[in-house]
Amino acid sequence: MSEKDGLRTYRGKRHFDRTSEPSGERAAKDEAAPATDEEPAFVVQIHDASTMHFDFRLEVDGVLKSWSIPKGPSTDPHDKRLAIPTEDHPLEYRDFEGVITRGEYGGGTVIVWDRGTYRPTSHDKRKRPVAFGEALEKGHVTFDLHGEKLRGQYALTRFHGREEKSGGDGGKPTWLLVRTGHGTGGGTPDPRRARSARSGRTLRQVAEAPDSPTWDTNGGERG
Ligand code: MN
Repeated sequence: MSEKDGLRTYRGKRHFDRTSEPSGERAAKDEAAPATDEEPAFVVQIHDASTMHFDFRLEVDGVLKSWSIPKGPSTDPHDKRLAIPTEDHPLEYRDFEGVITRGEYGGGTVIVWDRGTYRPTSHDKRKRPVAFGEALEKGHVTFDLHGEKLRGQYALTRFHGREEKSGGDGGKPTWLLVRTGHGTGGGTPDPRRARSARSGRTLRQVAEAPDSPTWDTNGGERG
C-alpha cells in the first residue's frame, strides 16, 4: 500500500485506447488540487459487470482506495457488508460514469451512485487521532460520510488478512463495511433502480446513451 506508483496495477489491467476510463496520467495535482483544509472525497459507483456490484472508493494520499462490495453499502447497522479490496484508482475516477467496452477489464456499465466527502475518525487506544492511511494498513478505519445518499459513521475492518504478508495469492484479505452510527433505515439500494448522483440516470439509461453529457447539473438530464 505504501508503493510509490499506486496506479500501476490499475493501468496494467486496462487499455486506454479501448476504454473511456481515466488513465490517471495527469497528476492529480494538475487539476483542482484539493486544498489542504478540504475533506477527502469518496464515491460509490454501481458497476453492472459480469456480476453486479458496488465499488466503494475513499481518497487516501492521492489515490482512490477501492473495495468491491457485492451487496452494496447498507444504512442498517445490523448489516455487515463484504468488501473485497481492488486496485487503487486515480482520483479522476470519482467522476467516471459510462460504459466499459465488453471484453475489456471490468466491461459493463458504471454509474456514480453516491459521492461526497468524508471525515476520518480513526483513533488509537488512547483516543488519539491516527493517520487514515496508517489505520488502513493496520486493517481498521472509521469515518464519517457526507454524501448525497450515505451520511454518518461507517467502519471498514479487515479480517484474516495476516497470511497476506508472506506474498502469493492465497488468502486474499477481505473487509467488512458496517454502518456504526444510528441507522437511517432503507437498508441497501436496488442497483437496477438506483439513480446516479451525478446525472440522475439509471444503469439502463447510461447503457443506452453512454456519451450524453452527464455534468449538466442544473438542467438535469438532457436529450
Ligand atoms: Mn467494479
